[in-house]
Amino acid sequence: MKNIVVVGAGLSGAVIARLFAEKGFSVKVVEKRDTIAGNTYDYIDENGIRIQKYGPHIFHTNNKQVFEFLSQYTEWEKYEHRVLGNINGKLVPVPFNLTSLKETHSKEDAEKIEEILLKEIGFGKKVPILQLKQHSEPLIREFAEFVYQNVFYTYTKKQWGFKPEELGSEVMNRVPVYVSTEDRYFTDEYQYQPTDGFTTMVQNILNHPNISVELGVDALQHVTFEQNKIAYDNDTNIDLIFTGRLDELLNYAFEPLPYRSLNFVFETHNTDSYQPAAVVNYTTSEDFTRISEFTKFCCKPTDKTVIVKEYSKQCEEGDIPYYPIPKQEYQSQYEKYLNEANKFDNLYLLGRLANYKYINMDIAVDLAIKLFEKIINN
Ligand code: UDP
Repeated sequence: MKNIVVVGAGLSGAVIARLFAEKGFSVKVVEKRDTIAGNTYDYIDENGIRIQKYGPHIFHTNNKQVFEFLSQYTEWEKYEHRVLGNINGKLVPVPFNLTSLKETHSKEDAEKIEEILLKEIGFGKKVPILQLKQHSEPLIREFAEFVYQNVFYTYTKKQWGFKPEELGSEVMNRVPVYVSTEDRYFTDEYQYQPTDGFTTMVQNILNHPNISVELGVDALQHVTFEQNKIAYDNDTNIDLIFTGRLDELLNYAFEPLPYRSLNFVFETHNTDSYQPAAVVNYTTSEDFTRISEFTKFCCKPTDKTVIVKEYSKQCEEGDIPYYPIPKQEYQSQYEKYLNEANKFDNLYLLGRLANYKYINMDIAVDLAIKLFEKIINN
């Protein structure tokens, strides 16, 4: 039986480590940071408030297998995420819905637009903004232009440095326009937050006698390449599952892959509530994209509250790469690295960074399960 080395103790790495451990494999998980759970890492601050150090993480899925897998390692608290958009100082539901329509238009205009949306698109439908902009009805196109300008354009430029149409369509598809009064950010069947936080959940996933976790270790100092094998501490009789940056693993053999990074500015306020929703997106103003208020994510109310403002920036040396940038040209660039990685038959790539894919936590878990099954059935 080969030993397994997993590079990265984030959600993806932890899940696949656990699956191998359950099958009797000896698994070493090596993590550069001093903490587990990757960017889902959270902790309780001095006021008893759970802080998500690397920004807001909300769990939601339609995948029963993923939900049941994680449910072995955490209790859940029901949590339905709601977001408001700050449009020139007015707070309206995002995704933009029929309520947002009424709050941003005169009664007469809102009624006209609603009528044509119901007739042409249908109640309950969710439409991506770029699709709505192409609609054959001029009034719908005009409405779409309003939403595009006031919800998507500025926010997207801040977040990605690109206009909505310059990105892969999957980005705008994440936040469609709702032809209904649905005001939840997600409509998935399972919407919960782990009762004791993500770190505890990942800790429980990793807690298995066949798993050893080494924190504060840079795996790249231990990795070498030998013809068609990757070695860890000179051992090639392993399978290595890598969840970090592929360009870094391959020593930047080609152009570095572009990522977006974030600066987080945390503030503690002496009030029990800072804003009327867990997240407010600043869609027309400010340099930051959004403000998240952690006490609204599920924690017990206190007389203090903690918020975080997110400033997005190009990822430079020393920055944390949070988001791969979903653009065709970068995907082609990634594929060059992928071809190189495929030369090593005991190397497997997993997770948002290594797969260069803008994925949610549930997809990360699903991909970990699928990769495990693929390796084990090989
Ligand atoms: N988006 C936007 N305005 C909003 C919300 C989202 O333009 O009010 C766009 C933006 O490009 C963003 C993308 O939709 O990056 C996906 O939004 P989501 O909230 O899913 O981003 P995440 O939480 O993953 O950062």
